Amino acid sequence: MKKAMTITYGVRNGVYVNMTNRCNCSCTFCIRNLADGAYGSDPLWLEREPTVQEVIDSLKQWDLSQKDEVVFCGYGEPTERLDDLLEVAAWIKQNYTIPVRINTNGLADLLYGRHTAPLLKDKIDVVSISLNDVTAEDYTRVTRPIYGKKAFAAMQAYATECAQVVPKVVMTVVDEVTTKEEQQKAAEIAASCGAVLRVRPLEK
Ligand code: SF4
Repeated sequence: MKKAMTITYGVRNGVYVNMTNRCNCSCTFCIRNLADGAYGSDPLWLEREPTVQEVIDSLKQWDLSQKDEVVFCGYGEPTERLDDLLEVAAWIKQNYTIPVRINTNGLADLLYGRHTAPLLKDKIDVVSISLNDVTAEDYTRVTRPIYGKKAFAAMQAYATECAQVVPKVVMTVVDEVTTKEEQQKAAEIAASCGAVLRVRPLEK
C-alpha cells in the first residue's frame, strides 16, 4: 500500500477532496481493495489526515472558477470528518460559486448519534448517497456497516432529511453488482426519499 498526501485530485472537470481514510463500512466492492488511487490519481492512502488549512491550501492550487464542482470523496467516508468538511465547505462558499457535493455512505447520523443533515444547509449543493442494494439483508451483506442491519433504514432516513435541506440528493447503485430489477426497485426507494437514482460504474 503506497501512501501520500494527495489531498485534492482532479476527476473529469471536478476537484475531489480526500480528507480521511476512515470508514464505518467495509464494502465488498470498495475500490480501496483494488488499487491505491482512483481515476489515475496519486495514492489516496494518506500519510496522515490533512488539517482544514491544508485542505484549503490544496484547493487554492486549482483555478476553481474554471471547474464544474468540488466533491468530498476520497479514500474513506468524508463525514467521518464532518465538522472539518463543513468548515472547508463554508470557505468554498465564501469565496466561490462552484457547486459542492458530498459522496457519502449516508450513515453520518449513526456515526454521531444525532440528525446531521441540517448542518449541510447552504454549504452543500448535492449529496450523493450509496444505496447499493434494495433490501436490508443484501445491503448489509454488500456494505458490511459496523452498525449492522439498522444501517439500511438509517441511510434512507438520512437521504430523506438531506432532501429537505440541500438542492439535490442522488442515491447510487453500482451497475456491475445490481440487476435491472434491483435498479428499478432502487429508483423507487430513491424517489420515496426525495432523491434521484444514479446507476454508476464500479469506480467511486
Ligand atoms: S463506504 Fe465507500 S470508502 Fe467505505 S468501504 Fe464502502 S466504498 Fe469503501
